[in-house]
Amino acid sequence: SITHGKNLKEELVELDKKHFIHPTSNMKQLQEDGPTFIFTEGDGIYLKDVEGRKLIDSLSSLWNVNIGHGRKELAEVAKKQMEKLAFTSTFNNWSHEPVIRLAAEIAKWTPGDLNATFFTSGGSEANDTAFKTVRHYWKIKGLPEKKKIISRKLSYHGVAMGATSATGIEQFHTFTTSIAPDFHYVDSSVESLKELIAKEGADTIAAYISEPVQGSGGVNLPPQGYFQAVREICDENNILFIADEVICGFGRLGTNFGIERFGVIPDIITMAKGITSGYAPLGGMILSERLHNDIIEKTEGNFWHGYTYSGHPTAAAVALKNLEIIKNENLMDNVNIVGKQMLEGFEWIKEQNDNVDNVRGMGLLGAISLEKASKSVEPIGPKIVAKALEKGLICRSVIYDGQDTLAFAPPLIITKNQMDDMITIINESIKAVK
Ligand code: PLP
Repeated sequence: SITHGKNLKEELVELDKKHFIHPTSNMKQLQEDGPTFIFTEGDGIYLKDVEGRKLIDSLSSLWNVNIGHGRKELAEVAKKQMEKLAFTSTFNNWSHEPVIRLAAEIAKWTPGDLNATFFTSGGSEANDTAFKTVRHYWKIKGLPEKKKIISRKLSYHGVAMGATSATGIEQFHTFTTSIAPDFHYVDSSVESLKELIAKEGADTIAAYISEPVQGSGGVNLPPQGYFQAVREICDENNILFIADEVICGFGRLGTNFGIERFGVIPDIITMAKGITSGYAPLGGMILSERLHNDIIEKTEGNFWHGYTYSGHPTAAAVALKNLEIIKNENLMDNVNIVGKQMLEGFEWIKEQNDNVDNVRGMGLLGAISLEKASKSVEPIGPKIVAKALEKGLICRSVIYDGQDTLAFAPPLIITKNQMDDMITIINESIKAVK
């Protein structure tokens, strides 16, 4: 009943405030307001909260619930695997069938010869793994000075020490007193990368990392021809190219991996999120055969890097089923069809609302930028998000770096009618805030 829902909510809010530390959150505001949602159920593109509100989840929760909420098939696979063998380590010479099958399956999804995967629990660990691996690689190649990592401004690579250091959003650095050394940042021009390499020296640089389309930084598409030029520059300077596919991988941009949209093959892919659609925590680093073989050949003793959950059997079983669903349900075709509709919808919104500055998207990853927020003008994104919520839609506002942007990444299963609903609510919410 509603009364019961209210009482339960009050109880949970109190416990939440006292005992639960929220990730990436405004702690003072949470103490004042409590959590906005306490979710109880999910079904397809919808989430339900403790008060019985049904809401469209236009960000697939955290850009990850790609096959939608409430998929029984994944629950069944997880249950079966847990009953049979919930967990065993893969350190040293131990292995198990789900992780072997998953690594082999991933090799079928990747471009080029990116055929070997090291597993982690998520994207931050995947990127830290990649940074340590590229440094190890150059060390065993006799080039230990090649250790700097280059990333892009407004990139998001996670919050482990290396991942935080690579992240190009200032707040994640200034939150703490020091980050890791040997990380450098470029803006999104080819010249900026060339200048940095000239300044630092190619013989000190291990790798370049980028998301194909930046997610958390505001859904920023690369300039025309950017990644092709970067690939050439990396090749000319012996710099490894890491594609951070944590958001873009496994269909979000309508291709297996996002970087394929730009006709480039990286040396390393890092991934997480979409590999399990969030049904179990899992991520990883995928290496090209050339790197993998070199590392096998030249590493003396151990590869001294591994997490307890590097190859979790239950997570691996869930991932295999998730990938099967993406293929069997032709979800990437849906991404291309409904993604186009989303972008057309955004254009339509722009035509009617003069406070909309710019709209953009690729596959089912999109953004609406509002009139540029200056220091004296308060961003209106958060107000639009609040309005959308009243109308039944959860969406995300990004206000880093003077932007005032709404970001969207609906589940890949979203139908045309559901996309119409989404567009209608966004339009009405923007109008209501004018
Ligand atoms: N890389 C990208 C592009 C991401 O979007 C994220 C998370 O949002 C991460 C890395 C970090 O992944 P995780 O939060 O699983 O550690």
